[in-house]
Amino acid sequence: ISPPAAADRPPAASRLWHPFSSLGGTRASELTLVEGKGARVRDKDGNWYLDATAALWYANVGHGQAPIADAIAEQARRLAAYSTFGDMSNPAAAALAEQLADLAPSADPMVFFTSGGSDAVDTAVKMVRRFWTLRGEIDRSVIISRGLSYHGMHGHGTSLAGIAANNAGYGMAPDPEFVRVPHDDAGALRRVIDELGPSRVAAFFVEPIIGAGGVYPPPPGYLTEVAQICRSAGVLLVADEVVTGFGRTGDWFASASYGIEPDLLLFAKGVTSGYVPLGGVIADRGVWEVFADATAGAFRHGYTYSGHAVACAAALANLRLLVEQDLLARAAVLAEELAVRLPRLAELPGVREVRCAGLLGAIALDTVRDPALPERVVRQARAAGVLTRVINGDSVQLSPAFVLTDEQLGQLVDRLAEAITAADSVRTG
Ligand code: PLP
Repeated sequence: ISPPAAADRPPAASRLWHPFSSLGGTRASELTLVEGKGARVRDKDGNWYLDATAALWYANVGHGQAPIADAIAEQARRLAAYSTFGDMSNPAAAALAEQLADLAPSADPMVFFTSGGSDAVDTAVKMVRRFWTLRGEIDRSVIISRGLSYHGMHGHGTSLAGIAANNAGYGMAPDPEFVRVPHDDAGALRRVIDELGPSRVAAFFVEPIIGAGGVYPPPPGYLTEVAQICRSAGVLLVADEVVTGFGRTGDWFASASYGIEPDLLLFAKGVTSGYVPLGGVIADRGVWEVFADATAGAFRHGYTYSGHAVACAAALANLRLLVEQDLLARAAVLAEELAVRLPRLAELPGVREVRCAGLLGAIALDTVRDPALPERVVRQARAAGVLTRVINGDSVQLSPAFVLTDEQLGQLVDRLAEAITAADSVRTG
């Protein structure tokens, strides 16, 4: 094969097909990041930005943490990876499973590793269905999820999604086995379970705080009520803590913050702060016991990189940092500060409302009046040295690293306020 003539070749950057983007629209504005330190990142031209989102909700301990880089290098030199299928193990995977079991809101769990959050979601759906099959209740196959929910991009996760735009137009047949209820209405869950009959419902999937759907905190009492509904109907409760895990609410898991004990807990992102991809499912004893029965046979599911040693070593170093630098307490302090500062932005023209829970926030803009406003705000913020993005079409995301300083939090909110004012005045001016 002869290489194309240089003149015919598109510039190197244009070979990168960006996720969640229109291929036509991203080439002109491509931003190349080359370095990160704490809650800031630097582009190839030397400009530093405040990272308002901790990348995609994951850099909990911030960027450029040398102890994680060292742990990765050391593990890679020793043994980068080996399958954990069958009876194979490695010390990093075993130690991480042990630590996660200690941190989880579950007395005696088992940990199943995946390569990321979408894998964790699809693993959980298969685990749930296998659980009921093993229990002899093969009709218990319906999975209920919430409106506005996001559960990753794999097949089952796409079917679960409450963000309609994520499953329309991608060949996903409307699946009668996946049912959605309004995100804020525990009574609706009870009614759907009653209508279908509890013996048809396998599980209810819930993000304790809705993330990509726009940062919607649960209404007071919602999570304990749905947990109670599930328990009394024998329906498994699955908490998708891919975003909320590892400190976002000041606890290791939001399930603990809101007082629920899910049967399955899904994690990814913050487990390694994103230094290496990793995710997984923490299964309560009530679930894994059924799989441990001598007659159960194999759970024929897993990934090449389940229990990847480098990823698990990165996670162990990340958990150590969260503890040693007392970053969960720091996240709680920042969350309180955000809850004070963010509501002031609700007064700005163009802002419809603000929402926050833990160290997660969203500024919802008036897209009825001005559909292009959110993207303009994000562009304006970038020009002012703040990186953020639009979630669910109308909101600007805030989910900074826990190492954000007080001064940086002030700058973040002030610069976003300025960006909103500037972007809004373009329309009206
Ligand atoms: N679940 C939730 C709640 C998420 O927010 C995400 C990703 O943002 C996922 C699952 C999917 O995780 P991943 O992108 O690592 O596959």
